[in-house]
Amino acid sequence: MKFHRDATDIPTGHIERVKWVKTLMEHPVWNMPNKKYGHVNDFQQCVCIDPVFVREDGISDDNEDLNTTFAVWIEAGPFLDISEHGMSTPEGGWNDFNRYAASHDLQLDCGAPDLFEALLKLYQKVMFYYNDDGTERDGPVRCDDCTGKPYCEVCGFLVRK
Ligand SMILES: [Zn+2]
Repeated sequence: MKFHRDATDIPTGHIERVKWVKTLMEHPVWNMPNKKYGHVNDFQQCVCIDPVFVREDGISDDNEDLNTTFAVWIEAGPFLDISEHGMSTPEGGWNDFNRYAASHDLQLDCGAPDLFEALLKLYQKVMFYYNDDGTERDGPVRCDDCTGKPYCEVCGFLVRK
């Protein structure tokens, strides 16, 4: 089930899936703002890939013995100018080497039984929440009281269980 009814369906054909993942890795959303230092795209810094063991239903149990199913969880976000986000000024002041850090956009959180599938889900979310130039899209946000089956009729997001 898609996270939002308007999200693009993940393709089933292999060639198209390969294209999705390649496009994801080169997406401008991962661009570091100060390109003059050679950082054109920093997918590796922006996308945190976390191999985990979970229960069969995909949830992590407090009892480690029950977590025997492999999964990949992903947290990701674009670079942020941290000098504008309440960080204390470092010694010597802000410059282009210390002002940018990869952020965590909770909206991009996803996971799957393997990395390829997880990256496809990530691209599905990147396309939904970001524009092709890497700027954030002015899209729908989840409402406070999601009801409806299976998608909330107000905001269009998958109804939370
Ligand atoms: Zn809703």
